Amino acid sequence: PKYQSVALIVGVTGIVGNSLAEILPLSNTPGGPWKIYGVARRPRPSWSADHPVTYVQCDVTDQQQTRDRLSKLTDVTHVFYVTWSSRPTEVENCAVNGAMLRNVLEAVIPHAPNLQHICLQTGRKHYLGSFQLLDKVRKPHETPYEEDLPRLDMPNFYYVQEDILMEEVKKKEGLTWSVHRPAVIFGFSPYSLMNIVGCLCAYAAICKHEGWKLRFPGNQLGWESLWDASDADLIAEQEIWAAVDPNVKNEAFNCSNGDLLKWKHLWKVLAEKFEVEYEEFVDGGERLTLGEMMKDKGEVWDQIVKESGLVPTKLEEIGCWWLGDLSLSYGSALDSMNKTKEFGFLGFKNSKKSFAHWIDKMKANKIFPA
Ligand code: NAD
Repeated sequence: PKYQSVALIVGVTGIVGNSLAEILPLSNTPGGPWKIYGVARRPRPSWSADHPVTYVQCDVTDQQQTRDRLSKLTDVTHVFYVTWSSRPTEVENCAVNGAMLRNVLEAVIPHAPNLQHICLQTGRKHYLGSFQLLDKVRKPHETPYEEDLPRLDMPNFYYVQEDILMEEVKKKEGLTWSVHRPAVIFGFSPYSLMNIVGCLCAYAAICKHEGWKLRFPGNQLGWESLWDASDADLIAEQEIWAAVDPNVKNEAFNCSNGDLLKWKHLWKVLAEKFEVEYEEFVDGGERLTLGEMMKDKGEVWDQIVKESGLVPTKLEEIGCWWLGDLSLSYGSALDSMNKTKEFGFLGFKNSKKSFAHWIDKMKANKIFPA
């Protein structure tokens, strides 16, 4: 056959979906040459149009539509599940995200005879607790988080997804799975529900336009703490590795860059990229939040888009202020990368370079002003 493997990326326009769509077609990618199907809810955006991917528009919350559209893809060998849907409470998140994953697996597993592996991407909130319940964890886990820590005693859609995954893979002999748990992701995608780099770029572009200094909308903890991040390409590489390496069967892996960062250092990078003056954070000063500072900036953003000839976006979609406000005022919660290294995945990224790279990439794609 022309292709050795056939990927189904569920969430192809998302922050890691986009990296998978760029890396899978490369000639030196393990398991290749790959044929690629990419699923997302909305019509295909201009910035994803050049990827050699068969685009399947499908809302995977809709069971019937998912069955109709995905059961036809009978040549799929590997599933990369990199999507989620956000609801106001974690109980609702459990219901919708459980249903989405089940809809996909029920449509694919019985109809794809050569299916070999399913990658499920969850995240560090497996150990920390969900966003809504972060402060309610009675017995928090100690860092660095290792993959085999017990579950927290509270609802978490990641647990629901893992249980559904285990149950569904049993339905096909020899089918294997892997779970991937990144920290905050640095990547490209104006369609992501959580893109911290995009959120900070939107803030910096508005500061530049308004003639403001780039002030730090966080606290001392956020400015000074040691953090880690997960580069979207690195996550995609780990997922592909786990999907095709015969020694990896049915395991969960943390996925972070392998170095440490401080937001104070990235702040300088951000300021340089947008040619704005930045201010050092001073403890005890006014507590700034992006939510507050950016709440009326929708029209300013529309003007920036027009003046700079950018791909049209809405500020409420790319300016994920709640994520910025949370990330810049939170202490470190580091993981351990020992398990994935011991299994043979030695990939890493320089977080400062990664941060700069994704800013450049979004500028090059006209999501932000050059
Ligand atoms: P994302 O928000 O970047 O992208 C989601 C993709 O799924 C998009 O292509 C979107 O169009 C598509 N999609 C959304 N709803 C859909 C639907 N109903 N039907 C079909 N397609 C749909 O995704 P992500 O951030 O990579 O999230 C995947 C997992 O990674 C989640 O569990 C998330 O919590 C976790 N995670 C994300 C981050 C981060 O910083 N983004 C960090 C750690 C963990």
